[in-house]
Amino acid sequence: VADGSAFLELEDLKRHFGGVKAVDGLSMTVRSGQIHGLIGPNGSGKSTAVNVISGLYPPTSGRMRLRGRPLGTGSLYRAAQSGLARTFQNLQLFGELTALENVMVALKGVYRSPIPLVLLGLAKGEERRARADGLALLDLLGLKDQARTRAKDLTYGDQRFLEIARALARKPDLLILDEPAAGLAHPDVQRLIQTIRRIHQRGIAMILIEHHMDVVSELCTLVTVLDGGRVIAEGSPDEVKRHPKVVEAYLGQ
Ligand code: ADP
Ligand code: MG
Repeated sequence: VADGSAFLELEDLKRHFGGVKAVDGLSMTVRSGQIHGLIGPNGSGKSTAVNVISGLYPPTSGRMRLRGRPLGTGSLYRAAQSGLARTFQNLQLFGELTALENVMVALKGVYRSPIPLVLLGLAKGEERRARADGLALLDLLGLKDQARTRAKDLTYGDQRFLEIARALARKPDLLILDEPAAGLAHPDVQRLIQTIRRIHQRGIAMILIEHHMDVVSELCTLVTVLDGGRVIAEGSPDEVKRHPKVVEAYLGQ
């Protein structure tokens, strides 16, 4: 439900790697149905925060609550079961499989496992449904005509959109996008903005990690700014852009 209630709450979240304090006391609340921007200079801890939220790494300390309940940590599978899905800053596709097969594998709910076996494992009726759902997702991402193209033969932009389709296949309530515009040409950035709007209209909340401030300004109501693993500012895109600490952090890059 996109009623603006607290969906994901992080409280004093830390993730250290030896002496590196990648995330060092992050508190933020993502509300249901919102597009929440997460920005900050390179190395400020954005991807690490997402890696902890999505269960890739356990936190060093801190609390995470999803819909008011403690979020199980350290398991991608558990996070997916709780309604979280994410894309990776570096793409994670099955190059030899078609676009449609990539989505069907995700629909089957298998995370990075060896593949054709999984497809064979679908019963006939289930496979028909997965195919129909997969095509609908490709359509949402503007990839219907590429359904039969192998992932490795797609343009870089289309590969990024396919990654989003795969994340949506998990039917998340919260989708985390880690720099989805990275490396995209201008027309694809516009297409990405339209796509994120369509996803938002379906009531799915998002955390949008993004370097392009114009993309953040167009899409986000609330933005959290990290530097050195800590929140240095939070507010509307206009507010944080003018914030002295934010200006300083970005100038120092
Ligand atoms: P961002 O996504 O904001 O660019 P990251 O979360 O990738 O930042 O990185 C934050 C800091 O944590 C960096 O100093 C990075 O080198 C370090 N870091 C990230 N992941 C690891 C890891 N697996 N092992 C050691 N250090 C890491
Ligand atoms: Mg990153």
